[in-house]
Amino acid sequence: TARAQKRQLALPSRDTAYTRGVNQTLDLERDLHLAIEREEFFLVYQPQMNLGSGQIVGCEALLRWQHPEQGLIPPLKFIPMLEDLGLIDRMGDWVLREALRQCASWQDTGLPLRVGINLSPRQFLDPELCNRLDHLLRDSGAPPGLVELEITESLTMQNPREAIEMMRRFRALGVKLALDDFGIGYSSLEYLLRFPIDTIKIDRAFVTNITRALEDRAIVRAVTALGQTLKHKIIAEGIETQRQCDFLEALGVDEIQGYLIGRPMSPDALSSLVEDFHRPGVEDETSATVSP
Ligand code: C2E
Ligand code: MG
Ligand code: MG
Ligand code: MG
Repeated sequence: TARAQKRQLALPSRDTAYTRGVNQTLDLERDLHLAIEREEFFLVYQPQMNLGSGQIVGCEALLRWQHPEQGLIPPLKFIPMLEDLGLIDRMGDWVLREALRQCASWQDTGLPLRVGINLSPRQFLDPELCNRLDHLLRDSGAPPGLVELEITESLTMQNPREAIEMMRRFRALGVKLALDDFGIGYSSLEYLLRFPIDTIKIDRAFVTNITRALEDRAIVRAVTALGQTLKHKIIAEGIETQRQCDFLEALGVDEIQGYLIGRPMSPDALSSLVEDFHRPGVEDETSATVSP
């Protein structure tokens, strides 16, 4: 086959680090075709905490591939491959179906958690996606108001008019929209003002140095102020320390997501974590009885 030929051409017999790298990539591409039917994909969920209430109010669904030989493969490695191979639509529909099922299942057990779902650029601009999502929402029974689609800034900037039209169609279904990785792309304030979104997710890049770099702090402060003016919710990503958390709270950020609150985890682990946060601990009881 052409693919086998291509493989031969790309793989001289010399066993260098380079050819091993190419070899591994081609193997992964071949395996990706099978991985969907072999059910090697699964979703993990990372908690998002509201800084006002101290409760976990939502989570983000993140895709994982458990490769039979190579172990866990990170999404930044295989998602571009899915795009190249034209498999992203199939995979994306699977992610939507699975995340909506999980959202409905939490709702059924009395846990109305908001679930964020990442859309790849190609998915978002697919004119049929909106109809499919409509059906998937009905089939799953997930409340649309608990579903938040995450789209990236760079993608929306390429064709803002078209993007705004798509956003309107999605929001007509009752789902929420978040602008993901905000700040690292080519932001245009003018478009940000016009985007019909609900949430801005500030990228981890600005959070990492927030306690050290004046510039990063200024950016987060400005984005938060703008978000408040536009009545958007602000979620900061990648919070790893209590100091970062305190800074973000002081700046008026609404919610945080990061290893400090929890790593991406199984649905069961997340349910337990939500209950742990909910149950008043010894600390809370003390502060409730002893006023300063
Ligand atoms: P993202 O949407 O910005 O997701 C946040 C990423 O930051 C996740 O990486 C998460 O594990 C990581 N993260 C969260 N908190 C921390 C922290 O405190 N410290 C550090 N160092 N990292 C943190 P992950 O799971 O590897 O996903 C990477 C990217 O892959 C995502 O970035 C998203 O763009 C993409 N992705 C993941 N799942 C899907 C999916 O189902 N569909 C699509 N289209 N893209 C996905
Ligand atoms: Mg995301
Ligand atoms: Mg992000
Ligand atoms: Mg990111």
